[in-house]
Amino acid sequence: MSQSTIPKDKDYPKLSKATSGYFEILYFEKSELNSSYFCNDCLYFIHGNDCAIVKKDGPDVDGKESGIIAPYGICTLWFRIQF
Ligand code: SF4
Repeated sequence: MSQSTIPKDKDYPKLSKATSGYFEILYFEKSELNSSYFCNDCLYFIHGNDCAIVKKDGPDVDGKESGIIAPYGICTLWFRIQF
């Protein structure tokens, strides 16, 4: 999908998790996440637990630090191109 076109070797500024409104929903950790409003199905998600526009380090809106952008995470910038 689109993640293959997002450059991973660029050092550009990203938003913090707290600024983006990011948090993780552990209840959905083992769910099927391919057609839902989670990071896993977001244009900006980079497989390998990263995001093109949100930093994976630092506290989220709940003050929790996981060190990853989780497939079962979500933030206010979630976006997907609809065809
Ligand atoms: S929902 Fe937010 S944190 Fe998750 S991949 Fe999309 S932009 Fe990144």
